[in-house]
Amino acid sequence: MESRKQLRLGSINSLQRSVRHVKRYNVLVVGESRLGKTTIIQQLLQTQRISKARSSPADNKVGPFACRKESIIETMLLKHKRSKLVLSLIETPGFGPSSMGTDCWQPVMDEIKGRISKYMSEENSINRRIVVDHRIHCCIYFLSPFASGLRPVDIEFMKTTCKLVNIIPVIAKVDTMTTQECKKLKVKIIEDCEKNDISIFNPELFDLQSVIAPPYSVIGGDAVVYSEAGQKIGRQYPWGFAEVNNEEHCDYITLHDILLKTCIEDFIEYTDNVLYENYRMNHLKSLDLNSSIDLIDSSAMIDGVGEKERLLREKQYELEKLKRHIEQINRRMSDKDSLMEVSSSDRDSILSSTSSNKSLEKENTSPPDVIPESVL
Ligand code: GDP
Repeated sequence: MESRKQLRLGSINSLQRSVRHVKRYNVLVVGESRLGKTTIIQQLLQTQRISKARSSPADNKVGPFACRKESIIETMLLKHKRSKLVLSLIETPGFGPSSMGTDCWQPVMDEIKGRISKYMSEENSINRRIVVDHRIHCCIYFLSPFASGLRPVDIEFMKTTCKLVNIIPVIAKVDTMTTQECKKLKVKIIEDCEKNDISIFNPELFDLQSVIAPPYSVIGGDAVVYSEAGQKIGRQYPWGFAEVNNEEHCDYITLHDILLKTCIEDFIEYTDNVLYENYRMNHLKSLDLNSSIDLIDSSAMIDGVGEKERLLREKQYELEKLKRHIEQINRRMSDKDSLMEVSSSDRDSILSSTSSNKSLEKENTSPPDVIPESVL
């Protein structure tokens, strides 16, 4: 009986370990309906086919600018640098131009923020060993080839989102444009991004000097041509074949390589170390602000339950701050070159932080109904 129990516990532990060790890489595809998002997703999956599962059907499309209610999620196991990761390509319901209302992108924003909040609360929970990373690591934003730059809806969406995720803008259906038109649109999009403080994916940030910067022009293929040289995917016209994988026709190869080869780790790390940290910091600051307001308003807490919660939140915040401080110092200490630079004040602060951290951790892990008297 005992050994069976141990066996079961063992298998649960190994399952938890395997869930923890498979990295997640989540890519969101956003933009107006009918710009070719589904076509590009299928194209990306075909070139990477290992295993895939569709989670919900792409059914209820009603026509141009119609919004689907659900997102479509395609998942596949990706072999990357001898390790495995689960890639999720998430296509959100398409949103329309400004005539649909300036907040038509709000559901997408809620999805992005919801995923970050979920991650944050799981990370702060008592059992943080099985935190699954559902945060969006990269967002491909589809732009219309018929616009003359960024439209108000694009600006609003990208301006808010670029603080939360890596954004790669792409110009859809570039086979409908001349070379000159495409060049002009690219320049205008870059200008509009700069003017509106929108930071988009920058290859130089990830030391990819030879990679061209976005926006990337793409073609979604619907035809395959077989020849002696191999097969070509693209779109057949009376005047010729617009080829997906031809660098003279579009930038699909660059997009594909950035997304599924060269930048996977960069996107994941940048999301974790920069974007998520900023979000978390702002969130904790807002908690701090709220707790100050709570303090002023404390007379209004009649039954004392609100007071307990507030103190618990304050302790959690202090704990978070201390943990971050210790992490920073540890990082610096592990760096051989800067080992000598660790000041004696830092050492003192490690010692004092560790002791207060331990006591705080003890307090924090207690369930709310057994909060130690010291906290109350
Ligand atoms: P979504 O609504 O954004 O997911 O768009 P779809 O992928 O469903 O494509 C909408 C229509 O545009 C379909 O008829 C596609 O065949 C077509 N389409 C997709 N990509 C391209 C492209 O690069 N060029 C052109 N001309 N048409 C495309």
